[in-house]
Amino acid sequence: GARQHGRNHIEFYSPDAWLRARRRLEIEHALRGALEHEEFSLAYQPLIALDGHGVCGIEALLRWHHPELGPCAPDEFIEIAEATGDIVAIGEWVLREACRQAAAWYAAGLRFGRMSVNVSAVQLRDPGFTQRVLAACSDAGWPAAGLELEITESALLLDTDALWECFGALQSAGVALAVDDFGTGFSSLSYLSRFPVGRLKIDRSFIAGLAGSDSTGRAVAVTRAIIHLGKALRMQVLAEGVESGEDERLLRDYGCDEVQGYLYSRPLPPREMVRWLQTRALIPDTVEPRFAVI
Ligand code: C2E
Ligand code: MG
Ligand code: MG
Ligand code: MG
Repeated sequence: GARQHGRNHIEFYSPDAWLRARRRLEIEHALRGALEHEEFSLAYQPLIALDGHGVCGIEALLRWHHPELGPCAPDEFIEIAEATGDIVAIGEWVLREACRQAAAWYAAGLRFGRMSVNVSAVQLRDPGFTQRVLAACSDAGWPAAGLELEITESALLLDTDALWECFGALQSAGVALAVDDFGTGFSSLSYLSRFPVGRLKIDRSFIAGLAGSDSTGRAVAVTRAIIHLGKALRMQVLAEGVESGEDERLLRDYGCDEVQGYLYSRPLPPREMVRWLQTRALIPDTVEPRFAVI
């Protein structure tokens, strides 16, 4: 009745909601000039194979620092950039920069496996996407087979002819596909088995519940089920958000292939990533045969 209406009315004009709406508009506005003003950078986080601790990849993570808004987290601005469509141009910059950096590091003798880049469903819907990805690789001199695209489960729900064509073309070029934050979306298992996806990344919310005081049987069950599903579909499985040695031990027991998390490294700016790779190469235990010490 009237009371209900009154409550909604008050909520709508609450200072909180007003501040949130204003913040959103500020971000939306600031994003428009962000590429041009070179406000973006990439942070890099290593991906580790559990058989022998080798570095098997690096994930590129977008960072944005606006002169007035300050640093703004991707969890806040990506969604806004998707709504405005700015993500298409921003995402292309990410791809180009990640491939450029990977090729430069490789030329300097660093070995780290694949470069993994997050891609939004909005980018996949863009008709020129496949061409942009392949152009980013060839312009940078980074092989398509050294690139992995991380997509979310919701992107698979598009299930259009165009998406199938796009994935087919990327697959024949050698680009790898991973499903990110797996277990949080609603991907159909039948789509999953038909798409050329090579890797599942278990969402870190499940890994956070594996060990220690906030351990839940539910997190263990979901984690193990995803690992089994991946094996059944001949996919690799990576666990994100690994923060403790106990997490690592459990995941190894469960048969998980790869890990990523603060236990190994936080996402780092390029210079620190180089130092991290060099230091690891000097620890005898963690030397990969193809890992050059420079
Ligand atoms: P994501 O792709 O699942 O990336 C992993 C996120 O988990 C990163 O947050 C990373 O910093 C964080 N993380 C890694 N290890 C740990 C850990 O041990 N503990 C905890 N608590 N967190 C950990 P970040 O960098 O803030 O990125 C958040 C999300 O924003 C990403 O999640 C991804 O969905 C999105 N994102 C980031 N960069 C891009 C991009 O270039 N394009 C698109 N479309 N999305 C991006
Ligand atoms: Mg990711
Ligand atoms: Mg993820
Ligand atoms: Mg995530």
